[in-house]
Amino acid sequence: MTKEPGTLSKSDSNADQAPLRQSFRAQWLILALALAVLAGVFAYYSFTSHRDITYQEHHRLQTQARVIASNLEHQLNATNLALTSVIKDLAYLREHKNIHLANRRLQELADAMPGVRTMLVLDRNGTVAASSREEFIGTNFSTRNYYQAALQRGDSTLLYVSPPFKSVLGPIILNLSKIVTESDGTFDGVVVAALDPQYFNVLLNSVLYAPDMWSAINHGDGIRFMMVPDQAGQPGRNLVLPGTFFTRHRESGRVESVLTGKSPSYDSERVMALHTVQPQELKLNKPLIVACSRDQAAIYENWRSSTLKQAVVFILISSAAGFGLILLQRRQKTMASLMAREQEERHKLDASLRESHQLLADIYDFLPDATFVLDLEKKVIAWNRAMAEMSGVPREEMLGQGDHAYTIPFYGERRNQLLDLIDTDDDELRAKYQGVTRLGDRLYAEAFCPALYNGKGAYVWAIVSPLYDSDGKRIGTIESIRDITAIKETEANLARSNQELEQFAYVASHDLQEPLRKIAGFTELLANRYKGTFDEKGESYMAYIVDGATRMRSLINDLLGYSRVMRSTRELADTDCSAVLSRVLRDLEPAIKESNAEVVCGPLPVILADQSQLGQLLQNLIGNAIKYRGAAPPKVVINALQQQGGWLFSVTDNGIGIAPEFYERVFAIFQRLQTRTEYPGTGIGLAVCQKIVERHGGRIWVESTVGTGSTFFFTMPLTVKDSEMIR
Ligand code: ADP
Repeated sequence: MTKEPGTLSKSDSNADQAPLRQSFRAQWLILALALAVLAGVFAYYSFTSHRDITYQEHHRLQTQARVIASNLEHQLNATNLALTSVIKDLAYLREHKNIHLANRRLQELADAMPGVRTMLVLDRNGTVAASSREEFIGTNFSTRNYYQAALQRGDSTLLYVSPPFKSVLGPIILNLSKIVTESDGTFDGVVVAALDPQYFNVLLNSVLYAPDMWSAINHGDGIRFMMVPDQAGQPGRNLVLPGTFFTRHRESGRVESVLTGKSPSYDSERVMALHTVQPQELKLNKPLIVACSRDQAAIYENWRSSTLKQAVVFILISSAAGFGLILLQRRQKTMASLMAREQEERHKLDASLRESHQLLADIYDFLPDATFVLDLEKKVIAWNRAMAEMSGVPREEMLGQGDHAYTIPFYGERRNQLLDLIDTDDDELRAKYQGVTRLGDRLYAEAFCPALYNGKGAYVWAIVSPLYDSDGKRIGTIESIRDITAIKETEANLARSNQELEQFAYVASHDLQEPLRKIAGFTELLANRYKGTFDEKGESYMAYIVDGATRMRSLINDLLGYSRVMRSTRELADTDCSAVLSRVLRDLEPAIKESNAEVVCGPLPVILADQSQLGQLLQNLIGNAIKYRGAAPPKVVINALQQQGGWLFSVTDNGIGIAPEFYERVFAIFQRLQTRTEYPGTGIGLAVCQKIVERHGGRIWVESTVGTGSTFFFTMPLTVKDSEMIR
């Protein structure tokens, strides 16, 4: 069953991304926590600074209110003292009925006290008896609160504080008054000091420290005496309304209070410090209440803007961090997917590598030749099935083995074998090891391995080659071994039967010669002695017998020659081919002449050969070239060409030619293509040629076109000297 590759990889990558998503969530959580902490710090800072501002501001307003209150107390004290001294002086002034003196005295006092605007003495009816301002004398003020209150209370120890009222001269003023009594204590009028709002203006102004701030003095009954900065309608205003700061302060019963909130009389939130002035040493019928106030918005303006700034900074930081994290995670994600892709590719690569390994192993195993591979440490890394069969050692047992363990199945001991000679240099190889050939970077050898097949032994033919990786780096060595025992046996059998055949041919031809000679000799005698005795039939029978005997003789002679080629024990020696050829041509002289043949010859070498056999070879080939001629007179060309490892001879004619299907058959013994009457011969000539060439380690073959001519090629070895020169 096959899975769809797309879905497989998708579900894989989903599974791979689960931990990534988890880590992303954790990162967000950490960021959120960090931002929460930062926000907390900001909030705490903002809260404490708000608290500090509130505290400072309240404190400051309270202080300012105190400053006004204490000034006011002084003023009240001083005025009280002035009024008391006027009362004391009054008896004396009355006695002398000196109104001018009294007026002057009051004027002096009023002038001396900067807070006092006017001083009056009212008689018991409320008419002005004396005044710092003479224009008031005779005016009746009996309806005024400061007269009425004093009259009604009748307490001479009290200092009466009048509610603010609109004075005759215009501005709202406030009067302080004391009762004048007769010696028996009955009411005898009041002395009055009118407080100068101008003077208090300065005082109230002096405490203002912000443009939104104002300060005020109120009468204890809730009438505003004055306010700085001055606002229309404020002096004389009634403050006794529910919810006003004034009401809240008075209800609290405290001397000092700091209140915040929205008073019905103002639009905005305000903070106000209130201070009740009622000095203990003075007995006031009504207190005065000082107020200092500021606008809340103004107080917290700086705080608000800095908090706003912090908020902006926080938002910037968090969005930058969030954005940064998004970027970071995007990068992590691409990295992760890159890594995943890489891993996938690696897996694919691994799989294909495994596949190709398997394929290679299968190919190894399929090979019929026993094959094994060593790595650079000469440890076995491959051992195919044929190798396991040949050696009897299974692959599992041999893989990973080093220290020449692989030679034990071949030789029964740890030693060098062909594979170990691969890095041996050529001189040493030639000197020490027989039958080892190097061709390129490969070594070839034939050997008998006595331990193979459980000690039965086997002839093997082995090839060794270094192995390289794709970069051309050497990674090991491979040896492939073929069992050639069967071939060797066949070769040996063939050699034996050949030898037996030769032996037979020799014995037969040799032993047949003697009776044949007898037959031929006596038939000749018979023919001579009884010539003319036979009738015609008898004569022709006789001729047949003589002909048969002659043919038999040449057959036997040729056969003997053939068997002698291999029996020859003559050593091969340097032989000058030109000299040999000259002799051959001399022997062939009659045939050449008779056929009008032309024989052309290129330069011929000196070769390592059996001189008489070489002569026989050339004679047979040239003889055939002349014999198997066509209508035209024969032309024979003999050449020799040096090749790698030997000479290539050719004998070319312009004769009848040979069809390709007979190219091999002509070299077999007794094989002829023509009848004896067309071309005489025994069919042994080319077989002898083949034997001679083979004895010299060469090869013979023919190329021909019927009707045009043939070329017989044969190879011959170099002389020792030549072969040394070439090396
Ligand atoms: P023989 O010449 O005694 O018949 P060979 O062994 O020399 O025996 O030749 C075998 C056969 O090869 C010959 O019968 C002939 O048919 C063929 N043959 C040999 N040489 C030539 C040649 N030069 N041209 C054509 N045919 C040839």
